[in-house]
Amino acid sequence: MKFQQPRLPYAPDALEPVISPVTIDFHYGKHEKAYIDNLNRLVKDTPYEDMPLERIIVESDGALFNNASQAWNHIFYFFQFNPGGLKAPGGKLAEKIEEQFGSLEEFQKQFEEAGATLFGSGWVWLANDNEGNLEIIKGSNADNPLRLNLNPILTFDVWEHAYYLDYQNRRADYLHRLWDILDWSVIESRYTL
Ligand code: MN
Repeated sequence: MKFQQPRLPYAPDALEPVISPVTIDFHYGKHEKAYIDNLNRLVKDTPYEDMPLERIIVESDGALFNNASQAWNHIFYFFQFNPGGLKAPGGKLAEKIEEQFGSLEEFQKQFEEAGATLFGSGWVWLANDNEGNLEIIKGSNADNPLRLNLNPILTFDVWEHAYYLDYQNRRADYLHRLWDILDWSVIESRYTL
């Protein structure tokens, strides 16, 4: 097994009541595990076998791309949460959000809106270009900003499996609550110029 599923850095109930332990069990324990298992099966004995996952995401297509990207996206999503984390960005990221969106609240509103209006399954992203400019991106299915030569820094999963057990069809409520468990120190550390 080349690609391993990392253990989450918090207990299954640590994100309650925003994300329940049952959702963690299904979403990370079953959905994410399946993407990693499929990825390992699909790369076996191919030229992709020894590539970093980020390069597979950029260079592959079809089932391999879908499973590679979903494997990466879920680790990126789950590792940005920590209920005791930093509640607002600081430094260069805070300055850039203010410059481009006017305020953190306005950025959050636009980000939630992008997620709520994404049709079907996918991910809403905050990413930056090589000059540090920020962009909110709506990506369908397994999409990832690495494919657009952008650096991903924040993502909310808007596949129904991310929220249906806890919020049923209330996707907008789920998106709004995620800020409560987001650790902005992780997001800041991903913002590279
Ligand atoms: Mn998911």
